[in-house]
Amino acid sequence: MIDIIQLLPDNIANQIAAGEVIQRPGSAVKELLENAVDAGATNIKLIILDAGKALVQVIDNGKGMSELDARMCFERHATSKITNIDDLFRIKTMGFRGEALASIAAVAQVELKTRKKDHDLGTYIEIENSVVKVQEPCACNEGTSIAMKNLFFNVPARRNFLKTNTAEFRHILDEFIRVALAFPDIFFSLTNNSQQVFHLERGSLKNRIIQLLGNHYNTKLVNVEEDTDYLKIVGFVGKPDVAKKTRGEQYFFVNNRFIKSAYLNHAVMNAYQDLIAPDSFPMYVIFIDLDPSFLDINVHPTKQEIKFEDEKIVYAFVQSAVKHALAQYSITPALNFELDSAIQQTDAVSKPFTEAQKESATFTSLFKTFTQANQAHAIESSAGGYKSASFGNHFQAYQPEKVAIDAQVTQQGEAFESNLSKLKSGLQLLPDKIPIQLHLTFIVVETNRGFIIMHQQLAHERVLYDQLYKAMNGSAIASQQSLFPTTCELSLSDALLLKELMPDLQYAGYLLELFGNNCFIIRGTPADVGEGNEKLTIEKILEQYKHFSNEYSFPKREKLIRSLVSQQSIKSGKMLTPMEMLLLAEQLFASSQPNSAPSGAPAYLEFKNEYLLDMFHQ
Ligand code: ADP
Ligand code: MG
Repeated sequence: MIDIIQLLPDNIANQIAAGEVIQRPGSAVKELLENAVDAGATNIKLIILDAGKALVQVIDNGKGMSELDARMCFERHATSKITNIDDLFRIKTMGFRGEALASIAAVAQVELKTRKKDHDLGTYIEIENSVVKVQEPCACNEGTSIAMKNLFFNVPARRNFLKTNTAEFRHILDEFIRVALAFPDIFFSLTNNSQQVFHLERGSLKNRIIQLLGNHYNTKLVNVEEDTDYLKIVGFVGKPDVAKKTRGEQYFFVNNRFIKSAYLNHAVMNAYQDLIAPDSFPMYVIFIDLDPSFLDINVHPTKQEIKFEDEKIVYAFVQSAVKHALAQYSITPALNFELDSAIQQTDAVSKPFTEAQKESATFTSLFKTFTQANQAHAIESSAGGYKSASFGNHFQAYQPEKVAIDAQVTQQGEAFESNLSKLKSGLQLLPDKIPIQLHLTFIVVETNRGFIIMHQQLAHERVLYDQLYKAMNGSAIASQQSLFPTTCELSLSDALLLKELMPDLQYAGYLLELFGNNCFIIRGTPADVGEGNEKLTIEKILEQYKHFSNEYSFPKREKLIRSLVSQQSIKSGKMLTPMEMLLLAEQLFASSQPNSAPSGAPAYLEFKNEYLLDMFHQ
């Protein structure tokens, strides 16, 4: 035999092709959910058994398929979404490659029920190993239900590659969350082994984020919004104090498609510079919408990576949109005092940014000038590439008619750029100057370039937070042993809670010992808990902890740290000695984030001499 090349049988070709699209149950979840979205469904249910290894089923109320389409959809390269190559650059749907159902049918047993709105009867199809087993008319709901059973039943090698149920279910959750985040106006539910995991009513994006990522984001989301000729950015970023030590809650969507992009992630990280610890990850859910002709989605089989026609410009916009969002939320307390003298007299000085001001201060007009087609590249040439691209420079270069609000915005933008870096380096305390306490709450401290007003409780909260954070991560806080240990009797449920917290409390300087069922001996406390107060302190910590458990879904340690902080912090109304005040200021400026308390409130406000002089018209 001379000729050795043969065509692969369809089912084998399909199985091989399926490897690109369907690697695990989670991949099928993504494809089936996206098909339901493309079908215009407003109600989509996902049902999972055995981490998707036994069953992945998606039920939608979308437009359904005709009898012929129901048969056709399992063919390779069968799609209703594009008809010619130019369509590739006008994609408005999630799918377009016509591979998903063919792939799923090649490596699993599939049952499809589908009915179009104006048809009395629907179609039922059973297909496995790419072979149709049953096709018959059926009575069914309007829309489509696709059940994928026993994934890789015919490819045992690939079935063996699947991970544990926990790991595979996590992938499923990831995919579900990505689609559900992108379409808050669609109802989604997820049922796993007969238990409902999510039931997501239609609503705003903010609500959807909170439903999916946790209640603790309720007061922790900053709105991001920039609308320009070239692209539109909307979404939310987490306030710096909810940044986590693990990556994870970071989502980019381009034209509603979840994508992974280390490059754009860098843009966001840049915007957070100096606001969060270098090894922590801010939360973000950012939607970038732009003309599909500026994109190539077809560079990756599962479309998680895409190509932008001009990715530098997208980078610059994402970075500045996030910066402006954070600036408006006024993360740096000194910002409000960085305005020029004309504006000093306005309300903006004495009051924080109001909603109305925020609205009029969007950067729309600025961006429009940048992006008008012929100017788009000015960004690059004037700033020498994205890495050094600082919008501060552009603000300076931009000379609009001097409308007050523009000036304010410009100043605010510059202030933001420069302030964060100056904040730590430029500002110095003067150790030989005696601070002044006002109303037993505020502390005025002279600095090298003006003065600051610290809020004694908020400043101390930041200092304590840092100390406790370090304590829980290894460098335990010294405990003062009591000469006469006190006992503390608790309710059974409080005792259970305290037992759980005991090891971490020990790091924080509380030495406890269980004595009987619900009684504890307090052998030691941190130095600043006064003698005689031990029992009360423990009770208050538990109370705070329970409060945080109800209100937020922080991790256990975070809740404990915050409980201890609120319990131990110096309160308003306490008289402090000059030495105590100076020490507090020094500790605050040595902390990880002097500008804000753990709650996100500013810990101090800065007044610079130059502004003071300005205000005096000097
Ligand atoms: P693609 O989504 O890339 O077009 P698929 O293999 O995922 O390819 O689906 C093939 C075709 O089947 C789709 O183009 C669509 O016409 C049809 N289809 C798939 N799922 C559904 C659904 N849930 N409702 C209606 N039509 C569907
Ligand atoms: Mg599809």
